[in-house]
Amino acid sequence: MTTTVVITGTGVPQVDPTCAGAGVLVRTENHHLQFDAGRATAMRLAEVGVRPPMLDALFVTHHHSDHLLGVTDLVISRWIEGRINPAPLPIVAPSGPIEAFVEHLMQPWQADLELRAGHLERNDRANPVLSTFEATHDNDTEVWSDGDVRVLARRVHHEPVDPAVAYRVETPDGVVVISGDTIVCDEVAEFCAGADVVVHEAFRKDLVLEFAAHLPHLRHVAEYHADTKQLGAMAAEVGIPTLVLTHLIPALSASPDMEAGFVDDLRSAGYQGELVIARDLTTVELPRRTSATTTPQGAAT
Ligand SMILES: [Zn+2]
Ligand SMILES: [Zn+2]
Repeated sequence: MTTTVVITGTGVPQVDPTCAGAGVLVRTENHHLQFDAGRATAMRLAEVGVRPPMLDALFVTHHHSDHLLGVTDLVISRWIEGRINPAPLPIVAPSGPIEAFVEHLMQPWQADLELRAGHLERNDRANPVLSTFEATHDNDTEVWSDGDVRVLARRVHHEPVDPAVAYRVETPDGVVVISGDTIVCDEVAEFCAGADVVVHEAFRKDLVLEFAAHLPHLRHVAEYHADTKQLGAMAAEVGIPTLVLTHLIPALSASPDMEAGFVDDLRSAGYQGELVIARDLTTVELPRRTSATTTPQGAAT
C-alpha cells in the first residue's frame, strides 16, 4: 500500500496563474481525502485523475476565502458527475462560520440546479453534508475514520481567524500532518510528534517586513502566519523527517531566488531534514524511502 500526498494548491489570496488556491490531497489505495479547497482545486484534482465524486470528504482548516473558493465548484461538479457516486460531498470542519457558509452555499445556485435536475431527470440535490467538531488546543480530536485510516484535528493559532485547525492523517503507511494556516506554535509542534511528512504554511517574515514601511498592512499579515526561521527551529527540535512548505509568502514567482531564500531560512534555523518547497501538484509518497525524493514539479533539497 502507498499513501500519496499531493499539494493541490500552493496559493494565497492574491491571484497567481501558477498557483491554485490552498489544498492538499491525501490518497490511499481506497481513500481520497481533500484538505481545503481554494480556487481551481477541482482542476488540479482532475490533473491527477481524481474526479469530484471520488472524494471521501473535504476537511476545512479555517474560514478564509483562499481555502474555500473552490468548495462550490467541488460540490456542484460532484453532483453533475454524480451518477458514479451520488452521495453529497461530506465536509468536516471545526464549529464556527463554516456552518452558515455551508447552509447558504447552494442558495445562489437554486435556479440553475433546479433546471439541471429537471433536464437530467434527477431527484437528488447537490447540498453537501456538514460534520462539525469542537477543536481544542490541548487535545487531539478524532474527526473521521474508515478502516485503518483516521484523521485527527488540533486547534492552532491563526487569530483573528478562530477556530483554525491542523489535521493529522494516520494510515498504515505513516503519518501526515497538514498545518493549515497558523503561526509556529506548540500545538503544531506537539501534533507533529512522530509524523513522517508535515505540510506547513511558510511566510518569510524578515523579507516581508522590509516592505512593510510602504505597505503597513503587511505587519498584520505577518502576525498570523508561520515565520520561516521559527518554523525551521521547530522542525529541527521536533525532528520532522520531511517538511513540505506550501502557502508560500512571498510567492515563488515574486523573484528567481525566492525558492533559495525559503531554503536558506529553514537551514539557517537548524533544520536538516528533507525539505520540499512545493509547487502545485508536488507529490510525496509514504512510506518514505531512504533515498532522496524528487518530485516532478517540486524541489527536494
Ligand atoms: Zn490562507
Ligand atoms: Zn488563513
